[in-house]
Amino acid sequence: MIAYIWLGSNLDDPYQQLDRAIQRIQTEDRIKVLRLSSRIETEPYGYIDQPPFVNQVMEIKTDLNCRSLLHLLQEIEDRMGRTREIHWGPRIIDLDILLADDLTIDEPDLQIPHPELPSRFFVLQLLNELIPDHVHQLWEQSIAELYQTFESTGGEPEFSTPKGED
Ligand code: AMP
Repeated sequence: MIAYIWLGSNLDDPYQQLDRAIQRIQTEDRIKVLRLSSRIETEPYGYIDQPPFVNQVMEIKTDLNCRSLLHLLQEIEDRMGRTREIHWGPRIIDLDILLADDLTIDEPDLQIPHPELPSRFFVLQLLNELIPDHVHQLWEQSIAELYQTFESTGGEPEFSTPKGED
């Protein structure tokens, strides 16, 4: 399948952390990295007392299923030293699956498309660089249309109070 991974970091030289994560993903036999978006910096949301985030999106081809891919990404996060203390708190690396082909998965620990994808301007902006014409059956709008709607309405990302993670 073709999948899109969001990479984010806001600790210990985030640009270097993204480089490290990309290198680790590239060494995985069952993943081929196809393309990378540019990187953009965004202010933190939710728990705002933290440095800005650096964000990037990666296009991959893999024969792993989504659950195995999620486990592999979580293993990479763990090996890079990610700790889970504050929800939406500072993190050395965060790897989320945004999209995987045209799949829809809605399970407690795995949702695809990523539920926050259509409400995060920076995610739409980066995906728009890679797959502007992609239409997921859930939204019936292309990434470019979602992005343009967001831009013209000045939509705000979702906010939430800090809370402990599961
Ligand atoms: P995060 O803090 O973004 O790394 O999210 C952590 C939790 O989100 C994990 O417990 C995952 O099981 C869950 N999760 C649900 N859907 C996804 C997804 N599409 N990609 C990554 N994590 C997901």
